[in-house]
Amino acid sequence: MEKIVCSVVVPVYNEEEVINVTYKRLKDVMDGLDITYEIIFVNDGSRDRTRELAMEICKNDKNIKFIDFSRNFGHQTAITAGMDYASGDAVVVIDADLQDPPEVIPEMLEKWREGYDVVYGQRVKRQGETFFKKVTAKIFYRTLNRLTDVEIPVDTGDFRLIDRKVCDALKKVDEKNRYIRGIISWLGFKSIAVPFVREKRFAGTTKYPLKKMLKFASDAIISFSHKPLKLATYFGFFLSFASFAYLIVTIILKVFSIIQTVPGWASIVAINLFFNGIILLILGIIGEYIGRIYDEAKNRPLYVIRELVNFDESKTINGER
Ligand code: UDP
Ligand code: MG
Repeated sequence: MEKIVCSVVVPVYNEEEVINVTYKRLKDVMDGLDITYEIIFVNDGSRDRTRELAMEICKNDKNIKFIDFSRNFGHQTAITAGMDYASGDAVVVIDADLQDPPEVIPEMLEKWREGYDVVYGQRVKRQGETFFKKVTAKIFYRTLNRLTDVEIPVDTGDFRLIDRKVCDALKKVDEKNRYIRGIISWLGFKSIAVPFVREKRFAGTTKYPLKKMLKFASDAIISFSHKPLKLATYFGFFLSFASFAYLIVTIILKVFSIIQTVPGWASIVAINLFFNGIILLILGIIGEYIGRIYDEAKNRPLYVIRELVNFDESKTINGER
């Protein structure tokens, strides 16, 4: 077996409209580099013809490998599986919809040869995305940075190159609700940005509806910050102080008979509702953390593979993470 220099991991979920074009563009770029490479498509439980199309590609090109999940496990998990099964000295992760231009890969490899272990694509401009997506993404990356202690570069996606040692280190991180870019930053290593313009999705629609975006954002914040939990303490301090002040005022009013005590029903109800709201909010936040602790405790495998195509025998479906 020839040593593979570069692995390219491509998660695909209902990407029948783009997979062939993506394959061609990636192949053109990789063939032009004169290195041994593999492209790993990870099918994250697509319901369209993505699987058949990928099988077809694999039949004609042995550089293309295919991991077929038993169902949809999510983008971050698909990337993880691709990295687990990649054998290159460098591993590149790229979206299937050509929003991350494959032509940036040679530049990433260049930086890697210069000695950087992580080369991440930084979006200087996002094209063809909705105003809502751009604004929420901007707010999200900046809030995340304020909440966490790990320096996670802003405006970067999962489009990046990592060295073999980073990939191996990543395999030891066994978290269930993963936020991979955060974990890579947490691992450390020497990293550098390569700026690129994020293009329009080539075809099809986004596979990240609002619900998935929210799950993604909460995974990111909760796995990298305890600050939301501290909210309870802050609210607690503030409210005890406020109630104490109010108590003093009430006593003074009573002692000097400034008001009768019977009125005040409205304020009691208002305060009650306010406190109940806060308590529920805090319980919800705590619940989010507990849910994730539960996921860790169950310790189920991260993903289940139905089939592997074009991998050599050393890689099995139940391969070690
Ligand atoms: N994706 C996936 N599983 C999912 C959702 C998305 O593997 O559950 C893949 C998708 O096929 C694409 C990449 O993740 O290659 C990024 O998704 P998309 O382009 O839809 O996200 P956006 O660019 O809109 O944030
Ligand atoms: Mg996209």
